[in-house]
Amino acid sequence: MSASGRNGTLADIGEFGFLARLLPLLPGGAGVVVGPGDDAAVVEVNGTRLLLTTDAIVEGVHFRQGWMTPRQIGRKAYLVNASDIAAMGGRPRFCVVSTGAPPHIPVRSLSALHRGIADAAAETGALLVGGNLSRAEELFVSVTLVGESKRPVTRAGAQPGDLLFVSGTLGLAAAGLHALLRDRRASGSAVTRFREPVPRLHAGAALARAGVVSAMIDVSDGLLQDLHHICEASGVGAQIELEKLPRPRNARTIETKLLLSGGEDYELLCAVPERRAAQLRRLVPRLGCPLTWIGRVMPKTYGVHVRNVSGDDLEFPQGGFDHFAAARRR
Ligand SMILES: [Mg+2]
Repeated sequence: MSASGRNGTLADIGEFGFLARLLPLLPGGAGVVVGPGDDAAVVEVNGTRLLLTTDAIVEGVHFRQGWMTPRQIGRKAYLVNASDIAAMGGRPRFCVVSTGAPPHIPVRSLSALHRGIADAAAETGALLVGGNLSRAEELFVSVTLVGESKRPVTRAGAQPGDLLFVSGTLGLAAAGLHALLRDRRASGSAVTRFREPVPRLHAGAALARAGVVSAMIDVSDGLLQDLHHICEASGVGAQIELEKLPRPRNARTIETKLLLSGGEDYELLCAVPERRAAQLRRLVPRLGCPLTWIGRVMPKTYGVHVRNVSGDDLEFPQGGFDHFAAARRR
């Protein structure tokens, strides 16, 4: 079956291939400020701009039994959504949850999971206001989060010459995932980071409010994959300096592959016009996390390149996480 065949499967075209077909078919309409294809949709209701996003975590796909407590599963299902709100420069407000669970799950576990969602929401200023429970073969938790932002930042505003920055460090959660795949009782800072993402809500809101970023995304599928999303949405290319990528402390030996395409970092990747660089420098101490310069936005014709310490441009394949492309490669 060719990848473009009408009767192909999802595995043939991948998650992003499917989205590329679906999105042009969705109608726009009154009140839609930013439609599908960004970290969150932006809609306007009676003059108020709201952000809408949804994401699920699924047993056997995002985690295996014994990797996380029910409370951690609930918290993570919420926090990955909060990260998308952070990427738009927004503030989380209200969420609902749709949970699927097998009948033999202990009530205690299911309660802990939902308390995990409610507590994580409360910690970020949001409320869990409803949900749905259905029978499922394996546990899944899908959270839909509504946020607000006076000045939402999309993926689409990067211009050649803009500087590229990333918050925090890269590769730690992916290292944690690899540790758990080797031993489900693994522990340490990498495993903790995999279990509990830290959405950069304060930094995202501060960057958006100050108007210093031209485009922003959260790094959920791996730096290169998410950089490609910014490049596609903005119609630009990019050059990344490999040795500038922020490595986690105590994990200096982290593989380059994990830095570039490990995924689940939930850090912010943003583009900043050079004329805003001084303003950004003054803002950084108040972001609550480090922000590291990692490269530059280039013209579209340049493509996306990673330059090593000797200055050689290495073109990388668009490595990163695609649920269904992964199934195809298997
Ligand atoms: Mg995102």
